[in-house]
Amino acid sequence: MPVSAQGFDVAVIGGGLHGLTAALSLARTGRRVVILERNWIGRHASSATAAGVRTLGRDLAEVSISLESMEMWHRIASIVGDDCGFHAHGQFKVAEFDRHMPALQEREATMRKLGYRHEEMIDAAEMRRLIPSLSPHCVGALIARNDGAADPHRTIAAFRGACERAGVTIVEGCGVEAVERQGADWLLRCGARSFRAPAVVNAAGAWAARVAALFGEAIELGVRASMMMATERLAPFLAPVVSVVGRALSFKQSDQGTLVIGGGLQGAADIDRQRSTVNFVELAKGARASSDLFPIVQGVRIARCWTGIEAQTRDHLPVIGASPQTPGLFHSFGYSGHGFQLVPVLGEIMRDLVVDQKTARSIAAFAPARLMQGRHAA
Ligand SMILES: Cc1cc2nc3c(=O)[nH]c(=O)nc-3n(C[C@H](O)[C@H](O)[C@H](O)COP(=O)(O)OP(=O)(O)OC[C@H]3O[C@@H](n4cnc5c(N)ncnc54)[C@H](O)[C@@H]3O)c2cc1C
Repeated sequence: MPVSAQGFDVAVIGGGLHGLTAALSLARTGRRVVILERNWIGRHASSATAAGVRTLGRDLAEVSISLESMEMWHRIASIVGDDCGFHAHGQFKVAEFDRHMPALQEREATMRKLGYRHEEMIDAAEMRRLIPSLSPHCVGALIARNDGAADPHRTIAAFRGACERAGVTIVEGCGVEAVERQGADWLLRCGARSFRAPAVVNAAGAWAARVAALFGEAIELGVRASMMMATERLAPFLAPVVSVVGRALSFKQSDQGTLVIGGGLQGAADIDRQRSTVNFVELAKGARASSDLFPIVQGVRIARCWTGIEAQTRDHLPVIGASPQTPGLFHSFGYSGHGFQLVPVLGEIMRDLVVDQKTARSIAAFAPARLMQGRHAA
């Protein structure tokens, strides 16, 4: 027997952090919002993430929204009711050798020319003062002092809790499988259940192109499976997050003392089965880079490693905006390995787009049209 569809003002497909932040900001305008999540909240990239909160080294197109998001991270407890384990101990991009310095110096010069002051070169002495455990062969660094890192699981719990308090309906175990137009509404079918809303936010992560295809849209989208490892607990020796020129490394010490090591080394993703696998040969490069930079970690035991599946666009910029083809469809995906930091500001942007059909934020570079096989190229 057909079951009547539940009606909402906005349906958000995907319960990762980008679905949660969009839902939260929309619900706070009084909209009735539902999140439809195929698995459970935070199942994929949002819980696998390294949770680095980084403005350092952003693509120039992302700098303005990234800086706004950073300002929001510094008052995140006032937004979601918990500090999400966020600490602003800075992010460092280290040059190991003199030949690595020009790239960092040029980046700083470019940023200054554009009027940005948040990326700053430091010399070897200052670097050693700030990170005494760093190997003495390193020669300098580009740093962003207000950057930091958060706890991904606390962040998910905080955004989920804030959504629930704002009245968002969260439906887990509910994968959207089919879509049809019904008057001014979209009817979203998840097995025997269905939901109706005039506005839909596509925040389906690595599966967002498949969701777009349900609406008849062809969006070019790749996938990545970034790998992470965590070690046994060590006494505190490092506060900031450290990356390095020319190697895939992001290195930090958690509040619990474990080292959390990532940086974009890739495993393998199977998006049909929603599974990803670690490539241990590749992962060993991260372990080697870690002990080269921090001799103190030689011999430390790796406790676990994992991968997370995420969408990746060809220009590594996200897909943010109203669909140019489908009325009432709004995209927020393709964060290509650096979407955690952008979570707070994306709530505001998606609220602007859905409620006002426009935003004052600079998002032209993220237009969905650029990946729509040239048919709607801007
Ligand atoms: C290992 C790793 C390390 C990272 N490190 C950093 C970092 O240090 N800093 C940083 O800024 N970013 C980092 N990122 C990136 C960041 O974590 C992601 O950009 C962000 O979490 C993406 O969130 P999302 O909500 O778009 O996607 P996801 O969290 O993947 O959520 C998408 C959700 O959509 C659901 N879904 C899919 N299809 C359907 C459907 N048909 N119906 C219903 N639901 C559906 C999925 O089940 C999933 O829960 C990292 C990512 C990984 C994987």
